[in-house]
Amino acid sequence: MNSINTDKFSAKLREKAIDTDRKAILITNFYGSSQENDFTKPPNCNGFGRVRHFRLDAGKDWIPNPLPILPAAKALGVKADSVIRAQVFQSSICNWRCWYCFVDFKLLSGNSNYASLLTCDEMIDLYLDQDDPPPMLDLTGGQPDLTPEWVPWMMKTLQERGLEDKVFLWSDDNLSNDYLWRFLDDEQISLMSSYKMYSRVCCFKGIDEKSFSLNTKADPKLFSNQLELCKRLLEINLDLYCYITLVATTDTDFHMVIPKFIDKVQKVNEMLPLRILPLRIFKYSTMNPRMTSDFENMIEGQHRALDVWQSELVKRFSSEQISLPITEIKLKN
Ligand code: SF4
Repeated sequence: MNSINTDKFSAKLREKAIDTDRKAILITNFYGSSQENDFTKPPNCNGFGRVRHFRLDAGKDWIPNPLPILPAAKALGVKADSVIRAQVFQSSICNWRCWYCFVDFKLLSGNSNYASLLTCDEMIDLYLDQDDPPPMLDLTGGQPDLTPEWVPWMMKTLQERGLEDKVFLWSDDNLSNDYLWRFLDDEQISLMSSYKMYSRVCCFKGIDEKSFSLNTKADPKLFSNQLELCKRLLEINLDLYCYITLVATTDTDFHMVIPKFIDKVQKVNEMLPLRILPLRIFKYSTMNPRMTSDFENMIEGQHRALDVWQSELVKRFSSEQISLPITEIKLKN
């Protein structure tokens, strides 16, 4: 299987998805997309947004998912509930093609039939033009960090509108590129580090090179690059959380592979495993045309992997540490 040339593909996608003069990002419009079939409520913001309900409960065979509920509640100064509403804007590009992605692949290629260039001012106008706007903005993808300007531009807009203490900002990152350091200046990075109501979630796309490349279609070597990028994000002091997708074939030696991965994570930061949340992969209708027997098998594999992941945490951390809320795990040295 030919893997994606991540560098080349990233550069090509970025070109389509940003207008630096206008400070605009190519945002997905959900009308008429197959992703729309998976929504419980119709898109909002003239099709450019949707309201997503993040829930703590990830189903009976999985652990609860406190992201982004706990970071949002902490930043907003409210008691955490079991669900939070978020206004989502979705970048129209991604440089990887995960089989389990709930986004229709047509919405990841910067296709102007399904997307338009919007400034952050235009996004905020659309966001505010609704009854009861959600307390949180989710800049998602796709891979938002192919256009890393999006986050500091949004922060500036929120500041200009007097919303920086009222709206929690959350963004996703698939840990695939160093564009943040290539395209942002020191002032923008410093704004991100000091902005009070912002947290970022990164996603590790597998537990070893094999599962990573099966999951993303990227070069297996980029598996360890994910850890390097995570380390660099910690060095600029972002309030950082991580997901990991544990989907892997059931013949994986989970008892060997998972401790090895957690060893590497602890080299980045000893406490980091407690900020990593195993993300359950569910089947969405957008995935149907991509499903194979291997992928069915990998969905089964994630449950075996979760058992090993949890027992590994018990070996490495005290019960007090494990029971701390994810927001209280200190990563700074
Ligand atoms: S990295 Fe994220 S957005 Fe991109 S294909 Fe994978 S799951 Fe989808």
